Amino acid sequence: MTQATLGFGAMRLPQTDANNPASIDMEEFTKMVDYYMEQGFNYFDTSYAYHNEKSEGALKKVLVERYPRESYQIANKIPTWLLEKESDNEKLVDVMLERLGIEYFDVLLIHNINKALLPKAEKANSFEYIKKAKEEGKALKVGISFHEKVELLEEVLKKYSDVIDVALIQLNYMDWKDQRIQSEKVHKLCVKYDIEVQVMEPIKGGTLVNVVDSVKEQFKEYSNTSIAEWALRFAGSQENVTVVLSGMTSLEQMKENCKTFKDFKKITKEDHKFLMKMAREIKKTLAIDCSFCNYCLKDCEANIPIPDFFNLYNSEKLYHLESNVDLYHTSAKVYAPASACTECGTCVEICTQQLNIPELLKDVAGLFGR
Ligand code: SF4
Ligand code: SF4
Repeated sequence: MTQATLGFGAMRLPQTDANNPASIDMEEFTKMVDYYMEQGFNYFDTSYAYHNEKSEGALKKVLVERYPRESYQIANKIPTWLLEKESDNEKLVDVMLERLGIEYFDVLLIHNINKALLPKAEKANSFEYIKKAKEEGKALKVGISFHEKVELLEEVLKKYSDVIDVALIQLNYMDWKDQRIQSEKVHKLCVKYDIEVQVMEPIKGGTLVNVVDSVKEQFKEYSNTSIAEWALRFAGSQENVTVVLSGMTSLEQMKENCKTFKDFKKITKEDHKFLMKMAREIKKTLAIDCSFCNYCLKDCEANIPIPDFFNLYNSEKLYHLESNVDLYHTSAKVYAPASACTECGTCVEICTQQLNIPELLKDVAGLFGR
């Protein structure tokens, strides 16, 4: 079995303004890319949408214009939600290639296949399109990024397994047995169809690092391995996994993650058992199981900072801090309060964790007041 590598996910890049995803800190990003390449890694994952559509342009400046094309691999994703007709596939892919300044993708994925977006991709013949893109040399490998339960993946693979080389799936020890995310079942099905598996959210947007003290203590008692390393090793130890993407935001994180993969140790059966126990413990401390992917922010007509509010809600449920209440009211003034939700449902269709966001926002409004 090939050893999994660390992929650089360009979705949580360092920012000069925490409230502006487009404000990528190019100086820090350059340092991170240079360090990552020096350490012998070379896999970059971006999308049309990341950082308010600025992620690809930043990669062009920092990577494409400074390194030979054969020295790195780039994966990109077709924004499924923008597909209205067949010709949109090619139009969007050409924009993506142009933004990056490259001639071909190493991996081209149809982004965020879920119940709501699969019909859009099928209506626009996206599966036929990616097959054609591969034949024409616009992509070396093609596939999907997947955010749904196993039944939908089965439906997709029954129809398109001859087209799909790669599936990018959410896989981490907390979601392994989770009934909503179903990491274990989804992974198993990919293995059954012999699809190459790439992993997103191995640390679940930081949830598996920012754990409460009692959980930290249990990790410490078990071994000296850092909490982040456990999460990455869990993902990289699974069958058919070739790339574990980490959305790193600082050089410090980058260094730690590179170290884990340079000297990669697969987890043992005993480790697996321990991590399943930790998953149950962490779950108990989370009121809202958001992965902070920010996908829901794009089209919220009420301009509600949804993931920030969920983060504050989780923190407030645990720690009851005055600062959480202050932060909520400041954000509510700058953007909009949780009670501004019109229940339009746009975010529900796109939520990668399948959360009932409008209902949860009612809880947020209830806790912090209007
Ligand atoms: S349901 Fe509410 S939170 Fe979701 S997009 Fe609509 S207004 Fe925004
Ligand atoms: S609510 Fe859903 S879409 Fe929004 S950040 Fe959380 S997981 Fe992502």
